[in-house]
Amino acid sequence: MVLPKFNEYLEKYAQLIAEVGVNVQDSHTVVLQISVDQAPLARLITKEAYKLGAAEVIVQWTDDTVQKEFLTHAAEERLKNIPQHKVDQADDWIAKGASRISIVSSDPGSLAGVDPERVAAYQLAAGKAMHNLRIATQANKVSWVVAAAAGSKWAQQVFPELSAEEAEDALWDQIFKTTRIYAEDPVAAWKKHDQTLQTKADELNAEQFDSLHYTAPGTDLTIGLPQDHLWEGAGSLNARGEKFMANMPTEEVFTAPDSRRVDGYISSTKPLSYAGTIISGMTFTFKDGRVVDFSAEQGEDVLAKLLETDEGAKHLGEVALVPDPSPISQSGITFFNTLFDENASNHLALGSAYAFNLQGGTEMTEEELVKAGLNRSQTHVDFMVGSAEMNIDGVRKDGTTAPIFRNGDWA
Ligand code: ZN
Ligand code: ZN
Repeated sequence: MVLPKFNEYLEKYAQLIAEVGVNVQDSHTVVLQISVDQAPLARLITKEAYKLGAAEVIVQWTDDTVQKEFLTHAAEERLKNIPQHKVDQADDWIAKGASRISIVSSDPGSLAGVDPERVAAYQLAAGKAMHNLRIATQANKVSWVVAAAAGSKWAQQVFPELSAEEAEDALWDQIFKTTRIYAEDPVAAWKKHDQTLQTKADELNAEQFDSLHYTAPGTDLTIGLPQDHLWEGAGSLNARGEKFMANMPTEEVFTAPDSRRVDGYISSTKPLSYAGTIISGMTFTFKDGRVVDFSAEQGEDVLAKLLETDEGAKHLGEVALVPDPSPISQSGITFFNTLFDENASNHLALGSAYAFNLQGGTEMTEEELVKAGLNRSQTHVDFMVGSAEMNIDGVRKDGTTAPIFRNGDWA
């Protein structure tokens, strides 16, 4: 690593993830999911979490190569049957109110060439097995954060013109920049950023638009919003009323759409890394909330599998606004990683909606959420649709409109 003061910044980053990301408090349980390639960061996060009073830090190691070998060669019956002890373990974490830290660093094309049928079969099984954990997380019962580390192969995909080592440094530099690690006081910088996004969310919450109308080249789409929808900024509250940041970096203000009221067509503006494959040049046509037609220039077969996951995968579960002048967008870099690319662009998600995006939603049953228009699915996949040419209007119940976005920025 040739990045000056790298170790110092990595330490600040670990501290930020523990303190602001999941906001570790006395006697918390912390589950950290991280690649074996990122052991130095894992050790630092573990140290910081114990320093803040964690009762236990549980590290779940991952590895791209081992996962690819498993998905390629494991007996089919093992792909499709997640052992009960893994379900029990997840239930134990929920019972302990464990905070979850996920560090993403994978090669965006790590599963290229693996049979999409097998990948989809495994994801379906894992999705079912982790159902309770997913519901608890998506309802913000527990604190959770997704942050990044510069995996070597990922860095080379983002910066193909650089040497392997330079690419890794360049990606770390972007991670530190976008998570405000270079600020004099990163924790204070995050509090200020949180406040800025919260102000936008408050304005939209006061308006309670009935729908949003998107227009851009290749896009003319109307998205209904449920009654009592809530826009959220960077910070969230868990069931214990403790603040946390679900994504670091984050630049978005987002809510849940009414999954039954989406009509028109929309085109993606950035490639998407999904299930270890890159999907690009996507178009979707919606009728009554459902995808009735789609295409992709690259990865269309994988996109088809995603849409087949379940009924909810054909409906939207998230509407997020990110101004085109956001720092990540202005970097001009395509990260091939949703955590970054979604924060460079207005985006939507296929699949499950977040219960906290509806007033009282986290206390509702699954049936009540469906009735309110919130999409339910095993999956949740963001795709990017924003550009400097995008306009968005808010449409009120009485049919009057107000500009929200003009030319890719807040109106
Ligand atoms: Zn989002
Ligand atoms: Zn999302």
